[in-house]
Amino acid sequence: MITSTTGPQPADFADVRATNLAVVLRFVREHAPCSRADIAASTGLNKATVSSLVADLIDRRLVRETGLTENRVGRPATMLVLDGSPYAAIGVEINVDYVSAVATDLAGQRLLTWRRSFSGGDSVNQGVAGVGAIIRRVVGRMAKEERQILGLAVAVPGLVDVQGTVRLAPNLGWRDADLGGDLAKALRDPGFPIQVDNDANLAALAEQRFGAHAGASDLIYLTGEVGVGAGIILDGRLRRGGLGYSGEIGHVQLDPEGPECHCGRRGCLEAMAGIGAVLRRIPPPAEIQVEIEECARLARAGDAGTLATLESAGRSLGQGVSILANLLNPEVVILGGYYVPLAPWLLPAVQEELSDRVVASAAGGCQVVASTLGHDAAALGGAARVLDSVDSGRLPGGLSRIP
Ligand SMILES: [Zn+2]
Repeated sequence: MITSTTGPQPADFADVRATNLAVVLRFVREHAPCSRADIAASTGLNKATVSSLVADLIDRRLVRETGLTENRVGRPATMLVLDGSPYAAIGVEINVDYVSAVATDLAGQRLLTWRRSFSGGDSVNQGVAGVGAIIRRVVGRMAKEERQILGLAVAVPGLVDVQGTVRLAPNLGWRDADLGGDLAKALRDPGFPIQVDNDANLAALAEQRFGAHAGASDLIYLTGEVGVGAGIILDGRLRRGGLGYSGEIGHVQLDPEGPECHCGRRGCLEAMAGIGAVLRRIPPPAEIQVEIEECARLARAGDAGTLATLESAGRSLGQGVSILANLLNPEVVILGGYYVPLAPWLLPAVQEELSDRVVASAAGGCQVVASTLGHDAAALGGAARVLDSVDSGRLPGGLSRIP
């Protein structure tokens, strides 16, 4: 290779090794139990390199050898699986009326699922104090299990820029909040990375990794909370847009004469198909769950008024989903949050609108389904984002010095 200033620098070699470690780790995640020879054959890395990389991953306790061997032609191969027992990924969702926290191990097995009622308080400071206290308890629990925290990702219902600053979370009353920085201070610089993202984005990551349609490369998640937002995964990657503000489908105008939206405009999807439209008002946060359950009960009992309201909300939702289907051609649109218990009555109208409005036949193959991850989807997605960071090369250091 003829190079002068552009030749490989020492940092490049470190990068290549980190990249290759991540390649091997991802392979083991997807194909375990597998052998070193399997890894070499599938990744194109040579066997000596694979052995060295696997030794490094074992040293970091990310991968371990099982007692199992597989007899191949020639000699038996020792099989490898993910380890990660000394690690935890933490995801937290802040919402108007609750905070959810989920911790998983490296393989994505849940270690903890908590939900606490929460009111964002009147200020970001109060919110940070409340959320920080919950996170400290999660971290304490993981420390008791002698787990190292790989990272924390926090989901917020609102506009979060690509740097992780909460630009606007109207339902929390937060604006221009450096939530990650404030939490790091509240946690006294905990030594693990803290990321902040939009709730729909993280819920989409949870669906991509853990949901009923895991592995779908074109997937959209719609939050069904007080606000309606979309987390968009295309070609296998979360699409945040230029500044991080993609997915605000809730404020696409469906009817210029429609009801007023809290954003100040009229006839937004959120005003016509959000929880406020279904319940005909936005109840105090603590009452939403109860009112949704009552709505579902009335629908099951065949109450005509309730069924008409749900059908109307379903039509508006279907219009919104049709815009997404025409524009992005997702394989699946997943309805989350309070849409889940109401899905039996929303989905028929959504499907009809899709058939009418999507230009491609059979809605371009777009399925619309209710999430199976429940209200923890965004928090679980926080953990998924941390695991994604590990998979893409941000590996924890070797732990061989820890007894
Ligand atoms: Zn609006």
